Amino acid sequence: MNIDKLAKIGVTVLSDTLHKKLANWQEYLDRELLQIKENWSQGGSLKFQIVGDNWDKNILPSYRTSQQNTLSLHLFTLIGVVDRVTPSIDHAHDDNLLNVQDMEAEKFIPSLQEQDILSKELTFLVSTALVQNIPQLMSCLGSIYPEHFDHKHSDLAGARTRQFCLGLYDCNEQKTQDVIHLLKDLSNKYVPLVDGEIKEEVFFGGDRLTDERIQCAQQAMVNSPTSIEKLEGFISKIEDFHRLMNFLEAICKLTFDTGSAKDRCTAYFFRNLLNARDVKADVKNSYRAYKKLYYTIFDGICCALFLQEMNLNSLEQQLPIPCNWETLENDEKIKWLDDISCKIVRNWFFENSDICQEMREVLTDPNHEENYWTGNYINGKFRCHFCDRSYTYIGSLQSHELKLHSHSPSPSKCSPKSKDASGDELYNYILCLFKLTALHKNLDSAVNMGDGLRSVRSAKYETPIYNKTNKTKYLIGSVHLTALACGSLPREQTERLVWNRSINISGGKNHNMALDEFVELVNRDTKATCSGYQTKDSILTHSREFPHLINATKHFDKICEVRKRKGFHKEPSYLEDVKKVSVELLQIKALQQIEGRKLECKNIVSERNPFDSCYKNLATMIHRHKPILPFRRLGNKQM
Ligand SMILES: [Zn+2]
Repeated sequence: MNIDKLAKIGVTVLSDTLHKKLANWQEYLDRELLQIKENWSQGGSLKFQIVGDNWDKNILPSYRTSQQNTLSLHLFTLIGVVDRVTPSIDHAHDDNLLNVQDMEAEKFIPSLQEQDILSKELTFLVSTALVQNIPQLMSCLGSIYPEHFDHKHSDLAGARTRQFCLGLYDCNEQKTQDVIHLLKDLSNKYVPLVDGEIKEEVFFGGDRLTDERIQCAQQAMVNSPTSIEKLEGFISKIEDFHRLMNFLEAICKLTFDTGSAKDRCTAYFFRNLLNARDVKADVKNSYRAYKKLYYTIFDGICCALFLQEMNLNSLEQQLPIPCNWETLENDEKIKWLDDISCKIVRNWFFENSDICQEMREVLTDPNHEENYWTGNYINGKFRCHFCDRSYTYIGSLQSHELKLHSHSPSPSKCSPKSKDASGDELYNYILCLFKLTALHKNLDSAVNMGDGLRSVRSAKYETPIYNKTNKTKYLIGSVHLTALACGSLPREQTERLVWNRSINISGGKNHNMALDEFVELVNRDTKATCSGYQTKDSILTHSREFPHLINATKHFDKICEVRKRKGFHKEPSYLEDVKKVSVELLQIKALQQIEGRKLECKNIVSERNPFDSCYKNLATMIHRHKPILPFRRLGNKQM
C-alpha cells in the first residue's frame, strides 16, 4: 500500500494493521447488498441499483521494472446504491402498461403543461440568481428566499444515501465478450431470483457508452434459453452527470466559437473579458470551467433583464422596493421578487408563446413530409400509400413508391423564420444562450436537490437540441430516458428510476450528486491511490481496498467541499464577474432589439428560440430509437 499517499489524505494507521483490517472488510464489502438482495427476492420492498464506469489508465514503462511497453489498463468500476425512495405502489394499475411503440413522437417533446411547470422552476432560478448577485436584494431577501425548490420527495432529499464500492472488474468496455462476462458475473451476484427466474430487474447506471455496451451484450445473448442468460436481469440507463456534460457540449456547439472574440457579449468574448483561461478545448474535459462561464453569463443576463424591467440603469441605483417593506410578511416579500422574475421568464424565456410550437405542429401533422413514411408504420411494416404492398424497411418502401407510383414527398412546406427576419443577430444570440443555459441550470439544480422528476422531464428539452446539433448518441440517450420514465416500465420501477438518481454523502437537501458523478470521484481517487501498483493483477486484487480506505478517511467530505461552500452566498470574485457581464450587456444595449445588427462570426448566428428548426428528421429519430423492451433497445433498423 502506498502509505505516503494515504498519509496525505489523513490515514495515520500503521500499514500492517491496515492490511489486516482490510482483509476483513473485503469479505463484508457487499454483504449488506447481498442481504438486501435476499430480502428483495422474497418480496422485500428495499432495493438497490448498480452504477459503473470504465476505468482506464496507462502505466508508463519508467514506473515498471521488467517490461518496456506502456501498460494500458481497461477496467470497470462498480458501486451499489441502496434506494432512498421506496415507492408504495398499488400494483393493480400495472395492467395498463403503455407500449412504447405506441407512444407518439410529440410525447418526447415538452407539452404546454410541462412548459408551465418549467416556468415556475425558472422563476425560482431567476429569483435565486437575482438575490445572489444584487447586494440590495441579498440584504433584504438573502435570509428569507428559499434555497430549496420543493418537490414530491423533498423530505427525503436531505437524507444520506447508502452506497458500496464494489471494486474494479477486469472488463474492457469496448469488448462485447468482456461485457457479457461481467454481466453474467453480476447477474449471479446481484440479481434477485426466485427459483432461477428473475424476481425483478436491477437498474444499471452509467454513461452513454456503458448503456450502449450493455445493450449490445444483451442483444448478443438474445437467443439464450432463459431470461437470466439473456442478461435481462439488468436495465441499463444513462445517469445525470453525463447528461449535464452532454447537454453543455451541445449548447457550446451552438454558442461558443473562438472566432467570435471581437463580437462583444458572445460567450467567447466573455471568456476573454473574464480571463477564464481554463475554458478551452473539449467541454467534457473542462466541464466545470465551461459551466462556470455560462452560469456567470446567465446571472449577468438576469441582472441586466431585472434592471431593464425595473427601468434602472445600474445595480448601484436604489431599487424600487415597496415602501411598506418592513411591514410585509416573508411570503409577501418573496412574492414581490417572484412576480418580477416570473415576468422576466415569460417575456424573455418564453416570449409569451409555446416554445415548441413549430416542432409540435410538424410532429402532429400526419400530412407533413416529416411524417410521411413513419406515419404508415403498421404492425411492424411500412405500408405503401397507393397500393396494398407493405415493406419491412422504410428504404424499400421509398424506392417502391418512387418506381411504381413515381412519388416522392414534396420538400418541407414549413414557413421560413419570419420572426427573426428583422435580424438583430446579437440580440437573438444572447437570448438563445440565455434560454439554453437556463435549461442546463435547471437540470443541474434538479440534480443537486434530488428532484428526479424535474431531471427526467429535462430530457424532453434536450432531445430536440441534440437533433439540431447532430449529437445522435445523446439524442438516443434522452429518447430512452423519456421512454423509460414515461411508460415502458411498471409504475414502481418508474418511480424508482425517477426518484433514486442521486447520492448524498454529507446530508442536506441541496447536496445531492448524480450517481455517475460519484463514480467519477471514486475513479479519480482510486487512480491516485493505486499509483503504487504496477500490474493489472495487483491493482485488481487491491481495488476493493482503495475506495473503502478513502471512505474510511472521510475523504469524500473533502471532495464535496465545493458543494458545501456553494450555499447561498457567492464568492466576491464571482459577483464582480457577473457585474462585468451585466454592465457590458447594458452598455451595448445587447438586450434591446436593434435592426440590422450583425455578428462577425457567422457560426454562432442562430434563431432566438433554440427550438426553432429542430423538427427536421426528429420524428424519424424518435421512432427509430424508441425502445421495444427496457432491456433490449438498440435502434429500430427498419427506419
Ligand atoms: Zn404501392
